[in-house]
This record gives sequence, structure tokens and C-alpha cells, in this order.
Amino acid sequence: MKRLLIIIAVLALPTLFNGVSHADASPIPIQSGVLLTFDDHAIEQWAQQIPLFKKYKAKATFFVDRFHTLSPEKIQQLHALNKAGHAIGCHGVAHRKAVDTIQKVGTEEYLKIEITPAVQAMTEAGLTPTSFAYPSSQRNVESDTLLTNTFNHLRGGTGLPKDTQIVTLDKIFYTPDQLANTPCLIGTGIDYAGSEKRPDYIEQIKTALDRAKAQGEIVVFYAHGISENGPGHHITPKALEAILAHAQAIRLPTLSYDDLPTK
Ligand SMILES: [Zn+2]
Repeated sequence: MKRLLIIIAVLALPTLFNGVSHADASPIPIQSGVLLTFDDHAIEQWAQQIPLFKKYKAKATFFVDRFHTLSPEKIQQLHALNKAGHAIGCHGVAHRKAVDTIQKVGTEEYLKIEITPAVQAMTEAGLTPTSFAYPSSQRNVESDTLLTNTFNHLRGGTGLPKDTQIVTLDKIFYTPDQLANTPCLIGTGIDYAGSEKRPDYIEQIKTALDRAKAQGEIVVFYAHGISENGPGHHITPKALEAILAHAQAIRLPTLSYDDLPTK
């Protein structure tokens, strides 16, 4: 019996040490990557894709608005996403445009109606947000300064100008040393990638991933739902899989906002 115990102990040792060294290891600095983000509240659709993200060991960030209206089931789905390694960020109480609202009611009232209650509700539910995505991508330097009192990182957005390729859209590419000191990262939208609306987008996104890998950059994208037909703005699971598969094939890490270094 004693011998058996010793054998078991010896067999268990490497596991133990693995555990310890893993916990002690400081995170590997980011060298390149893609930040995939999803906005609004297609929470059921997002949660359904946990196995797809898992298949490619991929992480994403989900920016949720109207948190106070969510059913307990949806909050559970957000917890499931979070447990699967994804970041849950804030997208405001009622999707108010930051600059317009600040102009109309002032910074104090803006925080009081649009930001603080969302952060509070999320925190009470055990999903404290450390990042924020601007509704309708409306932002300026003042709103960035204001919101970095509450959040570590922000996300804005830009359209793709006509006759421009994503790979040349320099403002969505960041070097690793810019991450901690850039309050707001700008992404471009990838809803409808591969559909009739944007038939060449998957190839364009892959080329952008190639650039990030080759040049040691982090590229930022955003979408909304993940479904075949919406409702509303969405990317199909097939298009998402093509992107995740390419990132994995070229060994480009998928990062979440929780992976970003802070100042
Ligand atoms: Zn939104």
C-alpha cells in the first residue's frame, strides 16, 4: 500500500510542478495579434459559438450594452463566455453616443446616466468591465480622457474608405509598445464579411492578419451578431471560422481586451 502511495505521489509530481510554474509565469509579452470584438447584445448567438472559438483556441471581447435589461439566462451566457477565456466589456447603458451626450448634458450627467450604472450592474453580476466600446464609434480626445478614469482600454471604430484595402488602413494596426499608452484602439467593421455586401472581405481580413504577423502588429476588428441572417448587423459563423482558421494557420494570437497591458 505504502509503495502504491509513493508511486502515485511520484506520478503526480510533474503535474504539481506544471501547475506551480504555470501560475508563477509572468505573461508572455504581446508580439502580434488580432483583437476580435463584438458589440451590443446578441448574447445567445455569441454563446453558441463558444465551441467554434475553442476549436481554434481563440479569444474575443464582447462589449455589452443595456446590461440592466438582461435576463438571468443571458447573464449566465456571458459568464460562460468569460469562463471560456473571453473578455466582457461595457458598451453603455442605452447605447448613447458619447460626444453628443456629453455636449448635451455635460460629463457628470453622462457618467451618471450612461456609464456608472452599467459598470455597477456588471460588477454586481460578477462581470466587472475593464474596457469600453464607444456606441456608434463616436468619440474624441476629451471622451477618451474621461472614460480612461473608469476603463483601462477603449475601442472606437472607422469605416473603410472607398477604394481602400483593409491592409492599408494603418489606423487599425498597433505595435505592441503602443498598446499600454493608447487609450482608444480603433477597429474596422467586419460584419457581412464574405456575403454579397462584402464578397472580398475574408481575403482582405486574411491579408490584414498576414500584415500583423509579418510586421509585429495588433490589428483590431469589430462585428455584432454571429449568425446566418441577423437580425441586424452580423458575421456568419462560416466567415468567423475562416478568420479564426487563418489566424491559427499563421500563428497569429487572438487577443482579448483582458490581455492588453496597462500603463
Ligand atoms: Zn453598438
